[in-house]
Amino acid sequence: MNVIEIIDKKRTKQKISYNELEYMINGFLNEDIKDYQMSAFLMAICINGLEKNEIYSLVDSMIKSGNIINLSGINGIKVDKHSTGGIGDKTTLIIGPMVASCGVPFAKMSGRGLGYTGGTIDKLEAISGFKTNMTELEFKNQINEIGIAIISQTESIVPADKKIYSLRDVTGTTESIPLIASSIMSKKIASGADRIVLDVKYGVGALIKNKEDAIELAKLMVEIGNRYNKKTIALVTNMDNPLGNMVGNGLEVKEAIDILGYRGNKDLKELCIVLASYMVSLSKNIDYKDARKLVVDNLINGSALDKFKEMVERQNGNINNISISNNVIDIKSNKTGYINNINSLIIGKLSMDLGSGRKTKEESINHGVGIELIKLVGDYVQKDEIIAKIYLDNKSIDVNELLNAYIIEDKLKQFDPLILGVIK
Ligand code: URA
Repeated sequence: MNVIEIIDKKRTKQKISYNELEYMINGFLNEDIKDYQMSAFLMAICINGLEKNEIYSLVDSMIKSGNIINLSGINGIKVDKHSTGGIGDKTTLIIGPMVASCGVPFAKMSGRGLGYTGGTIDKLEAISGFKTNMTELEFKNQINEIGIAIISQTESIVPADKKIYSLRDVTGTTESIPLIASSIMSKKIASGADRIVLDVKYGVGALIKNKEDAIELAKLMVEIGNRYNKKTIALVTNMDNPLGNMVGNGLEVKEAIDILGYRGNKDLKELCIVLASYMVSLSKNIDYKDARKLVVDNLINGSALDKFKEMVERQNGNINNISISNNVIDIKSNKTGYINNINSLIIGKLSMDLGSGRKTKEESINHGVGIELIKLVGDYVQKDEIIAKIYLDNKSIDVNELLNAYIIEDKLKQFDPLILGVIK
């Protein structure tokens, strides 16, 4: 096989065979195929797309590039969740204990974040002492004993994705529906769960900017999951505004605890209830309505919060010691009117400047910094009223940048619903 011929085929919109895709993936992983050749191939895919069979071949080759986690030692039907990510998305911290309290085993391997805010593991590490590494045996034992464990992702799952994603990040090839779908689904399938629930986000703060593309991506990922006999459901949700009130690792843990105590932000709570209910419904094979009742009951009666506390204690964390800076600055509105938008991209960038995210995986992050949005979209505010708080360390940044994220107008505008639809 010849790498240049394969690139040329995609450039001229011809079909690529299974063997050719596998050759590209394996060749790139073992460095026979160079970065510049893979970049050209990825760009040809971005421009000309991939047909269904090509996507399935790509997913298969990616999965085979690493290990498939065997979760069969864990009792019950395991359901994984994945969000395509966004500003203030702390849903894993909330949904895991919610479903575990309903008897659904939650075996989660999560990543650290690259980008504006930390990933789930970074957020958990804002809890003093929380241990995110354990052996496979310890992981399985903990889930069999208390129903939940969240640990750091092993390097052995889909190594091809890691290498390709780093290249996509620097070659303008991230925004391709077939590439995103194969990247996410190869990792979900290799992670070994029996069922999958996805949250596909669109909007200014998401990788996918418009709803039509998000729906196409969601449909494709559902098809891929089902093809591997892993019943998959996807929600398509809006990410024009940050999710919840808190952005920043320790602050997001605090917000997760509020939601688990059946308090806090209504939108975030509802999204978590819906995602968790689909997971419970898939795992227990019961109606969504019955699953939702179980989930809400366990929020109200405190079992979901108790499950979170149990996990934290079991993973050596001290829930009474969450890193949150006490250097706090109030930000006041410069106008009177309705908040019609809080640009999540601006919030994300500011949060990153504060130190809550990292640009390279070697960078360290500050778990205590972040932003608390006191006033949210739809609220009416007076000039000089406090609309947000910034938690910072001693970095010098222009905190008034935050005001650029707010659009405050005389008339309230119509908003997209948080949950646009469900794809089964
Ligand atoms: N998340 C992933 O894991 N891969 C993508 O391509 C995009 C988002």
